Formats: sequence, C-alpha cells, structure tokens
Amino acid sequence: MPQRTGILLLVSGPSGSGKTTLCRRLADEGEARYSTSCTTRAARPGETHGHDYYFLSREEFDQKIAAAEFIEHATVHGNSYGTLKSEVLTHLTNGVDVVMDIDVQGASQVRSCQDAAIQLALVDLFVMPPSDEELRARLTGRKTDSEEVIALRMKNALEEMSHWTTYQYRLLSATREEDYSRFKALLTAERLRVSRIN
Ligand code: 5GP
Repeated sequence: MPQRTGILLLVSGPSGSGKTTLCRRLADEGEARYSTSCTTRAARPGETHGHDYYFLSREEFDQKIAAAEFIEHATVHGNSYGTLKSEVLTHLTNGVDVVMDIDVQGASQVRSCQDAAIQLALVDLFVMPPSDEELRARLTGRKTDSEEVIALRMKNALEEMSHWTTYQYRLLSATREEDYSRFKALLTAERLRVSRIN
C-alpha cells in the first residue's frame, strides 16, 4: 500500500514558456510520470509515437472520444489533443505522481471533472514567459515552425496567458535552472500535504 496518493501536476503555459522542458525533466529524473497525450497533429522532426505523443488519425481520435477514453480533450492550434485516463488514474492510486502538459481549455475540464481521485490529486501551475518580447524570441528560435505558425502561436499565447489567474500557482520563467528548482520545490511541498497521506 502506498503511503500517500499520487499528485496530478497539471502544467500550462504558452508554447515558448518552457513548460514542456520542465515536465520532461521531472519525468526524466524519475520524480513523476509524464502523461503522454494523444494528438491529431503531425509529428515534428525527432518526435516519436508513444513518447512525445500518441500520433493518431482523426478517426482514431474520434473513436477514443466515443469510447470515453479521455479525461479531457480540446482543439489547440487547429488540432485535437487529449489526455487518456489510462495515462493518469491507476498511477495516482498507486501513489505515483503524474505530470501533464496541457492547454488552458484542458485544464478547465480537469478542474471541473467529478472524479474524486483527480480532485484530491490536482495541483495546477501556469508557466509564464518573462515578457512578450522574450516569448516572441523563443517562438522564433524554434526553427521547426513556419512564420505563419509562429504568428498564430504568438496570438494564441497572448490569449492563453490571460487565463493565468485561474491556476493555483504561477511560475514566472527566469533561467532554466531557476525555473526547474522552483518547479521541483512546488512538488516537494505538495508531497507533504496531510490530505494526501493515507
Ligand atoms: P504542441 O503541439 O506544441 O506540442 O502543443 C500545443 C499545445 O497543446 C500546448 O499548449 C500543449 O500544452 C497542449 N497539449 C498537449 N497535450 C494536450 C492534451 O492532452 N490536452 C490538451 N487540452 N492540451 C494539450
């Protein structure tokens, strides 16, 4: 029997905020399990199925919606994204912490989800880029996307950032190391909550 139930660490923030790097590092260091999402978008160079995402066809994605396999799903930048129950629920029960990188719409669905285990487990954090200029520089720096895609992501980022007050925690991005140490400190503190101890 685990001594405590798992934490569901939900992380949002615009692309370019560095949230994916934070989530991946936490998982790579064995601190939490990364919830791999499903998406209908095409894989970027270097991304692999089952690690970065489960890359699905529209039909496959819709079948999973019909079979109620998702905790939440949303359309982001014109593609569908969703979190599978199987990536989250049993791990929480087994006392394993799960980190998920999802957008503001998905976060809102998880918050209003009726599952008691999810409600007990949920900690949500918004990762904010230090400034609009820095965000633009970071989005342009990622060479895999076209100008058009960057412009769309900038517009969506500004919209997404307007939702930060709906989160329990906000991390204003500084350097990679500072961000990670504050991110890990949050998880460490949440692990000490009496409500999670069996
Ligand atoms: P990208 O295509 O750049 O990997 O991700 C685009 C956006 O989709 C990011 O904001 C990311 O957090 C979000 N996203 C990734 N997986 C999920 C998911 O399962 N559900 C939701 N709602 N958003 C997701």
